[in-house]
Amino acid sequence: MNDFTQLAYLVTAVLFMLGVMRLRSPASARSGNLLAAIGMGIGLIATLVVYYQFSVVLVVLAVLAGSVGGTVAAKRVRMTAMPQMVALFNGMGGGAAALVSLGEWIISPRVTVVSAIAALFTVLIGSISFSGSLLAFAKLQELITGRPIVFPAQKPINGVLVAIAVVMAFVLAASGQGGQSLLVGLYVILALGLGVLVVLPIGGADMPVVISLLNAFTGLAAAATGFLLANNVLIIAGALVGASGTILTQLMSRAMNRPIGNILFGSFGRVTGGAGTGATDDGVVQSATVEDVAMLLAYARRVIIVPGYGLAVARAQQEVRQVVDKLTARGVDVRFGIHPVAGRMPGHMNVLLAEANVPYEKLYEMDTINPEFPQTDVVLVIGANDVTNPAARNEPSSPLYGMPILNVDQASRIIVLKRSMNPGFAGIDNPLYTNPKTSMLFGDAKSSVNGLLRALDEV
Ligand code: NDP
Repeated sequence: MNDFTQLAYLVTAVLFMLGVMRLRSPASARSGNLLAAIGMGIGLIATLVVYYQFSVVLVVLAVLAGSVGGTVAAKRVRMTAMPQMVALFNGMGGGAAALVSLGEWIISPRVTVVSAIAALFTVLIGSISFSGSLLAFAKLQELITGRPIVFPAQKPINGVLVAIAVVMAFVLAASGQGGQSLLVGLYVILALGLGVLVVLPIGGADMPVVISLLNAFTGLAAAATGFLLANNVLIIAGALVGASGTILTQLMSRAMNRPIGNILFGSFGRVTGGAGTGATDDGVVQSATVEDVAMLLAYARRVIIVPGYGLAVARAQQEVRQVVDKLTARGVDVRFGIHPVAGRMPGHMNVLLAEANVPYEKLYEMDTINPEFPQTDVVLVIGANDVTNPAARNEPSSPLYGMPILNVDQASRIIVLKRSMNPGFAGIDNPLYTNPKTSMLFGDAKSSVNGLLRALDEV
């Protein structure tokens, strides 16, 4: 590897790290993304044009084709479908790492037993990531059922298959390169099958966590490929993806208070607890009109808005900002309470509200806002459900029990904007809706908030 390529790799690695650092805040995330993209461009040119001396025209054409495809996909995808898109991209990364390692193991003259084991390990986890991510995509896109698919002795079967894969990897590594093509084929099929088997029993609210875990797998596979190819930038980029995927997985499982083992093997959502049946007890569900709600809001001292997945579905963030402006102009103290797993990906609500130019200082994290609910006149829950479910605090039998929630039920009045009594992502009924302090404002969040805007003008 010549000095220029090494220098370019150093610049690429630094840009990747700066990019990841800047993703920590919505204010700097955009520039972070751009820095990482520039780093990727430099890394590509250094590898393909300078080091491998591929034709510049071909490289530019390939980069253009990839960039156009990526840009169109990113522009078209709805915010609510982001986890599926991440799953697809991630699966491609895992598959690419597996293919490169397989090719390197078969054709490289430098392969030792140790590097053969590294290559076969990469083929295993890259293939698991590939097929697992494609299945996760199909589940989230509702091409197949999103519920956990379980069968008897699933865990022991998976365990035995992993053991067989490990033994096969050692046999293949010891048998030298390129030979035993039947065994290689079986090994790849087994690895792909394992990806499917690992993701099949996972469903519902756990899918985004699994995608993040598979993302960590892809990073690991890329880093191992970097070792194989003696390519520093691939090692660094893979390690960054592996580490950030692992940290994200931990953050999400902590926010849901579910150990990762429970997510992988707990088949969450298999027992749906009467999903979709409406209220859990005989409590009465009260509904309100936009005029009632506008009156309550206009005369409140403090209002906390709790956004959730439904806000993203309705794309009502601009209208919500206008409500905030109107209330603030009337002297109402308006804040947002943001749950770490509201929506379908970490930071989902922050990105939505940033898009509508809601000032960052109005956004409060769960631990900061929770002590404020008892002194709050009105909480406006817009398209959030699971993250407000008091059963997570009070009902040990609830599948959500133990998940930290926004304690909206401690406010004086709670207004919930949603379309029906259907449950949220976890498929669990929400006793908040039968709380005597709660009123439901039924309808699509965008039209309800538009109605509120009109009604506020008349108060
Ligand atoms: P939920 O999915 O629990 O609830 C969303 C609610 O929005 C639904 O009850 C739905 O009710 C309502 N809704 C949907 N569309 C509209 C619309 N157009 N207008 C008005 N309301 C609408 O969302 P939360 O944000 O509360 O919870 C997130 C869930 O995702 C949690 O279970 C969390 O664990 C899970 N999760 C999140 C991750 C993350 O990183 N953010 C990662 C992993 C899991 P209705 O159909 O009646 O309108």
